[in-house]
Amino acid sequence: MFSPVSILVVTVLSSVLSILVLISLLPHAIAGVRRWIWANVLAIVSLVLFSMQGVLPAALGIVAANQLLAATILLIFEGCNEFFAIRPSAARAYTGWIAWLAVMAGIVYFTYAVPDTHVRVVIVSAFRAACDLAIAGRVLLSRPPERPRYNYLFVAGVALLGGAGHIVRGAIYAVAPPPQTALLQPGPMQVAFLAIGILVLPSLCIGLVMMAHDRLAQRLERLARFDDLTGALSRKAFLELAGARLRRPAQDGMREYVAVVDVDHFKSVNDRYGHAAGDEVLRHFASTVSARLRRGDAFGRIGGEEFCLICAAAHAVDVTALVERLRQTVESTPCPVPGGALRYTFSAGIAGWDGRESLASLLARADSLLYAAKVGGRNRVEASALDEAA
Ligand code: GH3
Ligand code: MG
Ligand code: MG
Repeated sequence: MFSPVSILVVTVLSSVLSILVLISLLPHAIAGVRRWIWANVLAIVSLVLFSMQGVLPAALGIVAANQLLAATILLIFEGCNEFFAIRPSAARAYTGWIAWLAVMAGIVYFTYAVPDTHVRVVIVSAFRAACDLAIAGRVLLSRPPERPRYNYLFVAGVALLGGAGHIVRGAIYAVAPPPQTALLQPGPMQVAFLAIGILVLPSLCIGLVMMAHDRLAQRLERLARFDDLTGALSRKAFLELAGARLRRPAQDGMREYVAVVDVDHFKSVNDRYGHAAGDEVLRHFASTVSARLRRGDAFGRIGGEEFCLICAAAHAVDVTALVERLRQTVESTPCPVPGGALRYTFSAGIAGWDGRESLASLLARADSLLYAAKVGGRNRVEASALDEAA
């Protein structure tokens, strides 16, 4: 059942399946997927050439077959770099292909000048082990720490298994080569290595597809969590987070404050400069504020040009001072728009949580303070007297 031909056929079929599954990811424009598809195409051609080794000339059955399989694993590594947005320097980007050419020189030399299957196996094993270990290293170093680990550890584990297999194989052929046999009449050890080979490539591809699906899940979660125009938390995510903060045990001497913040005369920005300029102002406002928040503060877009901040502080004056500083910064930092720079301001209402009320009631109190700031002339920060005294 473990005849080499059946192993090669199953590997070819699994590469065909990998290609079909990877194609399903193309519409999502996930970096690296195209290279992974090409890697499988090369693997198929290579395995077909290997299976016809006795029939084809050595240039195809040995040199081309080995080189295509080596290119397969190198493309998978390059696809992983692309997937994780790693852009190696020009010199580093070519290192893999220079090594690949060196492998080719070795294969040609030990096929035609000094024919030696064992040395060829050592050369190819060394190259493939290096690529497998590079894949494992890349995935382990670049996996997003906030994502579930399983998919990434799966790929790294498979790559490490492949790398270990090639190291052992290379070492055995370097130190105590088994009797020289043709690929298609192998001994038990060759069959064992072929079996590892059959497991590694499809398993790696399954793992890569799992990683790509995690990327899709990450995108969806980000869309649900963040407002795509401003990058601030979405209304839903902000309200969830603020609700959770009110439910958690109070820290010593600290209490939660919310500031409802609204851009002044925003309708006239749209009317005078156009909707696109209005969008630009919203982005500018959110990035100006986000850049100045403290660790632990959270900031969300709860309506068109209305935002909300939640933070913990020992005294109401600390929060008033923070929002007042933001007001001054926004007032003095015009937003670049086509044809000039646009000055704008905001008003804010700040309310401190009384320890019992609901989030809705807290927000309503901050909202009425915002209304007071608007009525009081805009470009102002209002906090209730009670909150100031707390
Ligand atoms: P006030 O000082 O009282 O807050 O006046 P305002 O003009 O800022 O408030 P108003 O509620 O009258 O107008 C808000 C405008 O914000 C109306 C709406 O078209 C605009 N708006 C809401 N969402 C967006 C958006 O995503 N992009 C742009 N460009 N405009 C938006
Ligand atoms: Mg407004
Ligand atoms: Mg408004």
